[in-house]
Amino acid sequence: MNISKEKFQKPSYLKPLVLMSAMFLGSFTQTTQAALSFTFNYTPSVDGHGFDDPTYGAARQSALSNAASLLGNYFVNYTANLTYDVVSYSANDGTLASAGSGQYLVPGSFQPTVVQEKILSNGGVDENATAADGEINWNFNWNWGLTNAPSSSQYDFTSTAIHELLHSFGFGSNVGAGGLGFALNALGTADTWTTFDSFLTDSSGNKLINSSGIFDATKVGALTAGTTNAAGVLFNGANAIAANGGQGIPIYSPNPFSAGSSIAHLDDKSSVTNTSIMNAAAHNLGLDVRTLGPIELGILKDIGYVNVTAVPLPSAVWLMLSGIMAVLGFQRKRKTL
Ligand SMILES: [Zn+2]
Repeated sequence: MNISKEKFQKPSYLKPLVLMSAMFLGSFTQTTQAALSFTFNYTPSVDGHGFDDPTYGAARQSALSNAASLLGNYFVNYTANLTYDVVSYSANDGTLASAGSGQYLVPGSFQPTVVQEKILSNGGVDENATAADGEINWNFNWNWGLTNAPSSSQYDFTSTAIHELLHSFGFGSNVGAGGLGFALNALGTADTWTTFDSFLTDSSGNKLINSSGIFDATKVGALTAGTTNAAGVLFNGANAIAANGGQGIPIYSPNPFSAGSSIAHLDDKSSVTNTSIMNAAAHNLGLDVRTLGPIELGILKDIGYVNVTAVPLPSAVWLMLSGIMAVLGFQRKRKTL
């Protein structure tokens, strides 16, 4: 029954799923107010009790759409329809949900996700053509609160959904244990990283990965150097720093390395970041954080979303050509208890 359990216990960023895409010529004309829209394709669950549950399925699907709209409010300056394959499963594996989006596999570079590229091009670049732009895996082993008032025995569905969608937007890392990248190329050789990764430094401000896409072997220790209230890794993008009084942003870097959680989240331990929606673990049962703070918005600006805001503006018209091989990666959010 727990078909996805092993999947989420893999020791690293999940193995890339290589998708061949067809060449795609997309012509997009802006006719309405700029906005993101979301299309969720629900895969039938094994036990019939996921997003397809006969009793709760409709409310669960509605809750996901509502959460996507809440996130979309920060991106009103962008126009794109984002498609996701949504998988339901049930496993007592410590994971609430996970999400990912493909990216080019180009050793020696920092790559946006398919979702990120699509948003930043206002829908003009769809790197994987008709395939879904992202994937969400939702664990219905837990008791989910779908409303604006989850009970003290429920996890906050909305908080978790916004968190997972943000990973697909490019808020995440390809840095694995030992400093290996997406393709697990040998330390000291070039690999593929996320845009987010290009801003990572050790606690002294020295880059983890150089401009040639090579992880600095002397910085491996930083990945697990996080302690209570002091992270081993910082995010040092200019906008994020500006939102944090000139200081780098503490990144989750516990010891031992936690595959799927380390480096891809704001530090759960640091008092600077431990109340963020982008922490690795849920903070509590019941209502949890549902909003993006100045630091998250700064990070989003640094990774390319320079117009992230709550204020609607008209967007541009784009015509672009794209044909690629895409790979999918996932990052997870763990439960607290
Ligand atoms: Zn996460």
